Amino acid sequence: MTLLQKIKNIVRSRSIHVCYVDVGSCNGCDIEVLACLSPRYDIEQYGIVVHNNPREADILLIIGAFTPGWEDKLRMVWDRIPAPKAAVAIGNCPVSGCCFNRPGSLVDPPVSKHIPVAASVPGCPPRPTEILSAILSIAPTVFRDYEVNQ
Ligand code: SF4
Repeated sequence: MTLLQKIKNIVRSRSIHVCYVDVGSCNGCDIEVLACLSPRYDIEQYGIVVHNNPREADILLIIGAFTPGWEDKLRMVWDRIPAPKAAVAIGNCPVSGCCFNRPGSLVDPPVSKHIPVAASVPGCPPRPTEILSAILSIAPTVFRDYEVNQ
């Protein structure tokens, strides 16, 4: 890897674009992600920008217990994110279905059956600080060995 590429990777790992999707939640985890944007946690001071545009994302946050309507859509969102990229499951829902995973329920966890998931943040819901530290710890690994073929 060239020195220029290494520098680019370091810079990109400090300017992280996060796209988040809710694949069927109670909105508890959504609120904790939104709390990360508040002045108290101020996610942008770490160079993290949260939006809903997969084409500009580096990290995909997934919230919820995977309802059937997301069968093709989540894969479509994932495919639109340019490499390098990583998916992080937020809360217990994307891992186990949490309280939605009952007999007769249509939810289909874990989300890792549908797209590759690099990390998960357990909790119902997890705290904003836990969400923040997951993003900050996964970002350098996303960019560390990435090499653009030019
Ligand atoms: S993990 Fe808990 S708080 Fe988060 S979406 Fe599921 S049920 Fe709601």
